[in-house]
Amino acid sequence: MRIGHGYDVHRLVEGRRLILGGIEIPYEKGLLGHSDADVLTHALMDSLLGAAALGDIGKLFPDSDPRYAGADSVELLHEVCRVIKEAGYQVGNVDCTVIAQRPKLAPFIPQMREKLASAMEIAPDRVSVKATTEEGLGFSGEGLGIAAHTVALIERI
Ligand code: MG
Repeated sequence: MRIGHGYDVHRLVEGRRLILGGIEIPYEKGLLGHSDADVLTHALMDSLLGAAALGDIGKLFPDSDPRYAGADSVELLHEVCRVIKEAGYQVGNVDCTVIAQRPKLAPFIPQMREKLASAMEIAPDRVSVKATTEEGLGFSGEGLGIAAHTVALIERI
């Protein structure tokens, strides 16, 4: 077994859709980024790549590459799992924490788990997604951005 950690932050701005864990969430702002800026899925990919010591998503999908403009991060997650498998590993389980003051994410968590599990070709009970606020403190608390931490365990096939 090997373990990896991922962390990501994106800025919240007007005029963008808010995508978290592959699910579009109704909100007055969205995350800014080259791809769909799905901060949760980005952190998740980094934890999987970290577990396999295969670098990070910036190395695999450079944001200087126009192919990844507006990219669906869940499709990139599927690709990351293919790369991990090629290296001889399968995903054991993942645990994710999204840090956002608003909007309330709890109603969307079951859909996010289903979506991420399907992209990784594992059962949803191996995918944990949690949401928390930072009690109004810092950039997340002020609603300037959303952060995500994830931990992934992979196993030799
Ligand atoms: Mg990112």
